[in-house]
Amino acid sequence: MKRVYGFNEGGKELIDILGGKGGNLAEMKRIGLPIPEGIIVSTTACKEFFRDGKKITSELEKEILEKLEYLQEVTGKKFEGNNPLLVSVRSGAPISMPGMMDTILNLGLNDVTAEKMSKIFNDEIFVHELYTRFIQMFSEIVMGIEKELFFSLKEKLFAERKGEPKIDTYKLVIKKSKELYKEKTGLNFPESAKEQLFMAVNAIFNSWENERAILYRKINGIDDSMGTAVVIQEMVFGNRNDKSGTGVAFSRNPSNGENELFGEYLLKAQGEDIVAGIRTPEPIARLHEQLPEIYDEFARLAKVLENHNKDMQDIEFTIEDGKLYLLQTRNGKRSPYAAVKIAVDMVHEGILSKEEAIMKVDPNVLPQLLHGNFDPEAVKKATLLGKGLPGSAGVAIGRVMFASERVETRALAILVREETSPEDIKGISQAQGIVTVKGGATSHGAVVARGMGKCCVTGCGEIQINDIKREMYINGHTVKEGDFISISGYTGEIFLGKVKLTEPKFDDNLKEFVSWCKEIKRLGVRMNADTPADAFLGKGFGAEGIGLCRTEHMFFQKEKIWTIRSMIMSTNPIEREEALKKMLDLQREDFYNIFKVVDGQIVIIRLLDPPLHEFLPKEEKDKEKMASILNLPLIEIERRIRNLKDENPMLGHRGCRLAVTYPEIYNTQARGVIEAALQCKREGINVKPEIMIPLIIGVGELKFIKQNITAEINKVFEEQGMSIEYKIGTMMETPRACLLADDIAKEAEFFSFGTNDLTQTTMGLSRDDSVKFIDDYHTHGIFKLEPFASIDVRGVGKLVKLGATLGREANPNLEIGICGEHGGDPKSIDFFEKTGLDYVSCSPFRVLVAIVAAAQSHIRNK
Ligand code: PEP
Ligand code: MG
Repeated sequence: MKRVYGFNEGGKELIDILGGKGGNLAEMKRIGLPIPEGIIVSTTACKEFFRDGKKITSELEKEILEKLEYLQEVTGKKFEGNNPLLVSVRSGAPISMPGMMDTILNLGLNDVTAEKMSKIFNDEIFVHELYTRFIQMFSEIVMGIEKELFFSLKEKLFAERKGEPKIDTYKLVIKKSKELYKEKTGLNFPESAKEQLFMAVNAIFNSWENERAILYRKINGIDDSMGTAVVIQEMVFGNRNDKSGTGVAFSRNPSNGENELFGEYLLKAQGEDIVAGIRTPEPIARLHEQLPEIYDEFARLAKVLENHNKDMQDIEFTIEDGKLYLLQTRNGKRSPYAAVKIAVDMVHEGILSKEEAIMKVDPNVLPQLLHGNFDPEAVKKATLLGKGLPGSAGVAIGRVMFASERVETRALAILVREETSPEDIKGISQAQGIVTVKGGATSHGAVVARGMGKCCVTGCGEIQINDIKREMYINGHTVKEGDFISISGYTGEIFLGKVKLTEPKFDDNLKEFVSWCKEIKRLGVRMNADTPADAFLGKGFGAEGIGLCRTEHMFFQKEKIWTIRSMIMSTNPIEREEALKKMLDLQREDFYNIFKVVDGQIVIIRLLDPPLHEFLPKEEKDKEKMASILNLPLIEIERRIRNLKDENPMLGHRGCRLAVTYPEIYNTQARGVIEAALQCKREGINVKPEIMIPLIIGVGELKFIKQNITAEINKVFEEQGMSIEYKIGTMMETPRACLLADDIAKEAEFFSFGTNDLTQTTMGLSRDDSVKFIDDYHTHGIFKLEPFASIDVRGVGKLVKLGATLGREANPNLEIGICGEHGGDPKSIDFFEKTGLDYVSCSPFRVLVAIVAAAQSHIRNK
């Protein structure tokens, strides 16, 4: 097993073993860039270290010493030699974790080497300054002694000895610092450079498991078992003289993507001076005035690196006595806006192919371009009230309102509710954003908010609402109705007051980028749209038709809801017929308007699937209004509500089960679809209606319902003396339907996997209630991903695959898609691509994400 490498061995292809920093340094050496020489203790050694009880083994010591020979030879310097070798010792994991682990500079100093170096540099103050820094850093990182103790010791001694020669005070600081080390550890400060090095490597390995590194990995989904490498590199001194300095710069502007150097530097300083914020660095452009040749050389090297790595670079550099060295390079982190601009520019500049450019942009960040985001600096200063789940991307600022009707009367409102119901739709549509105390990523509030492109935070159990006092309590804060809050649908965070925003941007770069993705992808991308306005929006973002039109959502607008309520609450055919007549008129018009918008594209209309509890009137005044509409006493309304209430509404009288009991409901809807389609046909609008049956558990329901609606449709054709092509298909939302997909495919012309319900029914986890305990599953590592947001590939995915395979075997023409919330999630899209589905369907605001993710997964899996 090889544990230690020289910079002359390998390059960036070995990043898993050499770490990002080490791999890129070796790569820079390979292409002849000016880097200080060094060696790398690999992640292999780190894994071994943790496996063998956190000890540096004698084999590892031996290998380090062997490679040290190489380093001494190429640098012409030696540990504790006449020309002493000093090194930096830095962590460098395969995936960059900026600032999470430790660094030690100037290692190799002791009283003897300090004297020798003072002579070589002809500057004993400079060398002793390095020495004090080394003792402080080493003590802090290897032994955990607070650095402030060393700073105050140094400050105190210099203050007391103002008139004394500086070098004497430095020597005293060094002596006292070592005494402090002994007092805290009971050990002598190590004088041997090799011992210092072994102790440092040990400490850097251990820093892989410090609290902040663990947390960072958790947040960013980085594998804990990966380990870190340790880079041991010859020191160059940015603090040596006025022609020395250190800095960090990006090869392009990471904020707006402009092709210009962006960064900062300090003359006469070591890297830690910038990080510690003791002195204010200068913008990089000023280096052009101070050291023009160095600036030009740096700009040239930044381009070399960018072209070589085919990406924007984040580079650390040091200048020692007028000579430039590169210390590190990595692909730079950037804003979503810059990500798209840089990818597009690099194609135009011939650096990237279109396919390579597509892979450079994280699709999940794209909604930020449409919604804007909070200014990161403002977020740092804002008061965080609490955190829920990120329900729908975007950010919103507004006044807290606890009731929908009050939202309607206030500009800039954020609706905060225990949970939302259809009564809140108008409130939701007028609010800037929505917060719910209960409900998860597929809860009603989140689905609706995403559909409208509204920012939404769900499941914030930290909030307690007091409706009477019209205030809420959250982590010790009281927020009154009318107070401003700012919410982030990206992170689930809720802040007090107004947090400053960045600008939303949907420009030519994004358009061009998306057009390439559309050329390359295989999967179709449709939208989940219930209104002409949604359909218009989604079409603008590039949706190719409607994959799911939830007809119950068409009744969400304030007055329409009474029609569906009347229908649900009617107890005899006469009442129901009355309500259905009204329903037919409303639906025909809605379908007609939607067909017009998507002219020529497929529209899949899903027949009624209301979990009844979402539609029943809850508030007293609504019950009274229902009584007056149906001309019944209030007590009768209350009795019917009680009768209709399912104990378990998600598995209750919903979906096609309603149509088995009351076939006239779906018949009426089918009539509405076809009458609207015929109207369009007469007007020359191209329509492709497809009717979809929800929640079936086998072919029996589908056959029964298909027979009924086909008969009704034929009646319409006869009445109107004309016909139109249409399809009838089904949602696949239960395990049994997937298991028996071959039977079903003989009756269905298409399948659409409803993965919200399929996840619920396969896992036996309620989409609404799981929010109460799902966090615990994450905490204990039982779930790695949230199954309602990212498809459970092993379980639910297996059913999707089985359903698709059985379905296609029985009916080769079967068109297969997915329309659950997973249709807008890149990880899930990757699975759907591999499974060979025909399309995904998602909310209009996720269409861009899905187009880019579909292109990426096609490239990845080709
Ligand atoms: C589903 O279950 O995945 C689906 C799309 O239907 P709904 O969310 O309306 O239940
Ligand atoms: Mg469903």
